[in-house]
Amino acid sequence: SALVCQYERTHPRSKEAHDRAKNVLPAGSTRSVLVSAPFPFLIKSAEGASLTTIDGIKFEDFVSDFSAGIYGHSHPVVHDAVQKALATGFSLGGITQKEAELAEILTTRFPSFEKVRFCNSGTEANMFALATAVAYTQRRKIVVFDNGYHGGTISFGATQNAMNLPHEFIIAKYNSIEETKPLLKPDIAAILVEPLQAAGGMRPAAPEFLQFLRDSATKIGAVLIFDEVVTSRLHYNGIQGAWNIKPDMTTVGKYLGGGFPFGAFGGSSKIMDRFDSSDKSVAIHHSGTFNNNIFTMTAAVAASKLITPAELERLNRLGDRFREQGNILIQKAGVDWMSFSGYGSAIGVHFTGDEAGSLLDCFYFTLLNRGIAIGRRGFLSLNLMHTEASIDRLLQALRCFLKDFCG
Ligand code: PLP
Repeated sequence: SALVCQYERTHPRSKEAHDRAKNVLPAGSTRSVLVSAPFPFLIKSAEGASLTTIDGIKFEDFVSDFSAGIYGHSHPVVHDAVQKALATGFSLGGITQKEAELAEILTTRFPSFEKVRFCNSGTEANMFALATAVAYTQRRKIVVFDNGYHGGTISFGATQNAMNLPHEFIIAKYNSIEETKPLLKPDIAAILVEPLQAAGGMRPAAPEFLQFLRDSATKIGAVLIFDEVVTSRLHYNGIQGAWNIKPDMTTVGKYLGGGFPFGAFGGSSKIMDRFDSSDKSVAIHHSGTFNNNIFTMTAAVAASKLITPAELERLNRLGDRFREQGNILIQKAGVDWMSFSGYGSAIGVHFTGDEAGSLLDCFYFTLLNRGIAIGRRGFLSLNLMHTEASIDRLLQALRCFLKDFCG
């Protein structure tokens, strides 16, 4: 279509670079989520809320690294801290004070964290949390939810043909107390749940559903794990703090690493002290060369100063405003095949009907051609560099799309 033609015309270098990359990278990139027809744009640099492609085109960035980029690009506070770390040595293979400093910050913020351990991604955090729960309970079965996404090796419908871990997973229906209840038996080791399904379409859990999981886990002696890899940005104390529902364990990652590779899993001392190797008979082992790497530790500690309850709330209000006004514009246009979902600063775009796929394409390229980048599958997340004016621009682009496609 004309929309795609305009994109192709303005991105010849991206096309050339992508074609070349395909010779050595299947599909041209390691991050499948970023690759789509006709070809993805390649980034040259990024600053604040904007990305510049190798074609010299600038986009206002509403992907925000799939929620990990909450600070905006190249934030000077993080930049300076990492530069200092660079100057004082890296690949240390040892312990610095930053590790405990970061653990203190996280255990202060998230109610279920008495003790934590670090790793290199949200995927790893969930893998280790599940392994912990299995070792701790001496049970094998794990209840998860349809359309859940907990990383590249733990995914239930949100991505196709997932290469899942060989756990004994039982897949329950998200947000359905009635259909989940019969599955929660005393042989369950863990229940792993996202308080908002992120990759699964930015769909929040009902608070009463999470409370039901809390009560059931207590009753059957299972470890309740909240995957707050994304939702940790929605409240200073996570969804667990916002809704006052405390899981036994929590996993986090993404923005809490300050923009560097990061994951953390933790919970009560009773569970986490099993990682204390001084008692060999019960100790669980967890290791990783880069678990406490100085770049992540330094960036995470520095970046934590930028995150306040008020700033997270400001981002949530911006997201709420977009969702509310966006859905009103859709309604006013008489459109019943498009909607926005999410919670606070995490936003999903949905299309229904036979044309859903091509309408999403049209929406994506309409925005791109107006200088706005969103996640290709309808994912938006806000960052600290966004303002009311950013939301105005997003709404204006939506108006244009509706004008072009519903008449
Ligand atoms: N858990 C959730 C809820 C996620 O959305 C993601 C990533 O999108 C992960 C876990 C995996 O994190 P990572 O990509 O750092 O492995």
